[in-house]
Amino acid sequence: MISISKAITIIQRESISLGTERIPLADAVGRILAEDIIADSDLPPFDRSQMDGYAVKADDTAATPAALKIVGESAAGSGWHKTLGRGEAVRIMTGAPVPAGADAVQKLELAREENGSVIISEPTAQDRFIVRKGTEIKKGAAVLKKGEQLNAANIAVPAAFGYAKVRVSRRPRVVIFSTGTEIIEINKRPKRDQIRNSNSLMLAALCREAGADPLVYPIIGDNVSDLRSQISVAVKKADILITTGGVSVGKYDLTKLALSELGAEIYFDKVALKPGKPTVFGKLKKAYIFGLPGNPVSAAVTFHLFVRLLFKKLQAASAASLDVGRAVCLDSVRPNTERDTYLPAKLFASHEPQTEVKPLPWHGSSDFISLARANALIFVPKGRLVSVGDKVEIVRL
Ligand code: AMP
Ligand code: MG
Repeated sequence: MISISKAITIIQRESISLGTERIPLADAVGRILAEDIIADSDLPPFDRSQMDGYAVKADDTAATPAALKIVGESAAGSGWHKTLGRGEAVRIMTGAPVPAGADAVQKLELAREENGSVIISEPTAQDRFIVRKGTEIKKGAAVLKKGEQLNAANIAVPAAFGYAKVRVSRRPRVVIFSTGTEIIEINKRPKRDQIRNSNSLMLAALCREAGADPLVYPIIGDNVSDLRSQISVAVKKADILITTGGVSVGKYDLTKLALSELGAEIYFDKVALKPGKPTVFGKLKKAYIFGLPGNPVSAAVTFHLFVRLLFKKLQAASAASLDVGRAVCLDSVRPNTERDTYLPAKLFASHEPQTEVKPLPWHGSSDFISLARANALIFVPKGRLVSVGDKVEIVRL
């Protein structure tokens, strides 16, 4: 049995990045950048007016009302490209270039036009309502870095700098299948001793959320030759195979046997973790393999801790794979003496000034109802009693 941190080290050590591809920017949200995004111009590209109003020399408005002769108009997309003289004003629109010679803008609300002149009713000041060229970003700056994820908040950046296509890491292709003679498809009514397959859909959803491309294969019973043949097919199609079930020590836990008969390399098969002790990580041909435990909470927790990390590493992503934080625990928790524990919990982020977390009633690794109500996991290190009011490490789900 190895520690969680040792398992993490092994995954990091074994991950080889998947390579990159150039794709249309419109398809790139959620992907990991494989190139820096460089500003191809200053922003703004010219001194830009923030207001509808008049471009002026600030000095000319020192004593008001000030009458200035209107000599032109600068609109967004069609500026006035001469030089403003003393006693003159240019009618200007929001987003339009401020002409040479002008050093301020006065807004429309403080001006009125009369016989070819504008009467400014209040003084403006130098630089007022002007965003100077290059103050937002300078040409040549790397605005987003390789390894960052593209999202709704930052996708405007490559768009603004002309990246109609962008180089990103290839997305991991994942095959998922559940194992277990008792497991049936979700559209079937369970007969005696049968259980519906909730893991495959859950894992497919987790994969999608984590930016991978999942494909679900049929359930395989506890039978070595069936396992062998489906694993052989899967590793040809996928970068990663995720199975659930059959990795414990029971008579019908056959996933590891099938893997070793196929010649897979097993990097670890037991982690000091609750839930999720019998987690298998290995490789067969070019595909990584995660044999996750069948219990749904174990499968989810080990996905978060280990599979997400592999996804990040394969895409050379710079962000951490888990959203961790700290919170004040509202209940006491008795620790496991041999294994670190992750408990389903409710995080109350709005309880300012401190974040609070409450362990949810939990009946063990099969209790996915508890997990469905959780928005976080509480980390309880082995042997460490958590008392009410203690600060604990949490993972946001
Ligand atoms: P195993 O890891 O095969 O020993 O399975 C542990 C427990 O998880 C058993 O009670 C299984 O019935 C249950 N289980 C296994 N696979 C699934 C699945 N795909 N969906 C829901 N429960 C499962
Ligand atoms: Mg089983």
